[in-house]
Amino acid sequence: MTETLYDVAIVGYGPIGQMLALLLGQKGYHVLVVERWPDRYPLPRAVHYDHEVARIIQAAGISAALASTTELTDLYEWRNAQGETLLALDQRGTGLSGWPESTMFTQPIFEAVLAAQVASLPTIHLRRGWEVFQVEQSAEHVELTVRKKKSEVSPNVETLTMQARYLVGADGANSFALQQMNTSITDLGFLFDWLVVDVIPHEERQWSPLCWQLCDPARPTTLVSGGKGRRRWEFMRLEGESVEDLNQTETAWRLLAPWEVTPQNATLERHAVYTFRARWADNWRNGRILLAGDAAHLMPPFAGQGMGVGMRDVMNLLWKLDLVLSGRADDEILTSYTSERL
Ligand SMILES: Cc1cc2nc3c(=O)[nH]c(=O)nc-3n(C[C@H](O)[C@H](O)[C@H](O)COP(=O)(O)OP(=O)(O)OC[C@H]3O[C@@H](n4cnc5c(N)ncnc54)[C@H](O)[C@@H]3O)c2cc1C
Repeated sequence: MTETLYDVAIVGYGPIGQMLALLLGQKGYHVLVVERWPDRYPLPRAVHYDHEVARIIQAAGISAALASTTELTDLYEWRNAQGETLLALDQRGTGLSGWPESTMFTQPIFEAVLAAQVASLPTIHLRRGWEVFQVEQSAEHVELTVRKKKSEVSPNVETLTMQARYLVGADGANSFALQQMNTSITDLGFLFDWLVVDVIPHEERQWSPLCWQLCDPARPTTLVSGGKGRRRWEFMRLEGESVEDLNQTETAWRLLAPWEVTPQNATLERHAVYTFRARWADNWRNGRILLAGDAAHLMPPFAGQGMGVGMRDVMNLLWKLDLVLSGRADDEILTSYTSERL
């Protein structure tokens, strides 16, 4: 067992774990972050954030570092198979937070910028390549046991036990922390597979509209910016298609061809099949254990809000944990976290 009692232990170093670690670290708190994978997640995911998330990014001090990789959008349109507009969301201008209403970005770049900022703070201790597999809590602290996977170099599983005053599970869709919550789950039963494809066009091209949904039952398709210099397509799996067939490079090119995107004029950066879900935990706090981000809630990406909602969890947790850890409030204030966020 290590001697250190961390203020907060965070399980998971996705964007939510990163942002929480960074903002707590900026306040001088001692933060332990445990992340299962040795390297950053390379597959396509979030591409959009709103003005409130942009304000949180400002608080993290990374707006300038991101600016050259993002792209603003003014309209998000939903069209039927005949090309008629069903819905047009006006996203022009500046939102209440003083930042653009709608920004398109590249999640792996965003995570790399966050990681560089985290690395500049001395009170954050990151353990990559370690997995949390056991958590116990007492009146004073949480004890977490972590293990490092076997490798050819070290065939034995190495384990460590560490302690923190609070633990935040930011460990994503298949959350281990969620299992410690003793909570019911609300599941709306939304369950669809989509092929997600990120492309880098070789030459600049005007996309009009920049971001839209093709609501054609023959192949529901998302066509949006993936950040500056990148395009994102998402194709719904149809009945009779298998996930394996859909998740092939050849399939991606075949589905891109009607949009005049070919290996001759674009690079296929990444592709992956995701099952989109609509599900959340009904309780995000169990004593000293809290949930944030995808661990607490999952939603289909059509509104571009999954990560953004997690960022708002972070801000709510941040001010509450700050007051509790600095002795200015009783930890009873953490009780309202779930009801304020759900
Ligand atoms: C196709 C797609 C498009 C999307 N588009 C948008 C969008 O435009 N805008 C938006 O806001 N959101 C979008 N989202 C959602 C967004 O990507 C997620 O909400 C966000 O990445 C979740 O971040 P997280 O940190 O909560 O979880 P994750 O990024 O999943 O991170 C969790 C981390 O925890 C680690 N972990 C898990 N278990 C353990 C353990 N036991 N021990 C140690 N580590 C562990 C995992 O390895 C992982 O790195 C999209 C998602 C998808 C799939």
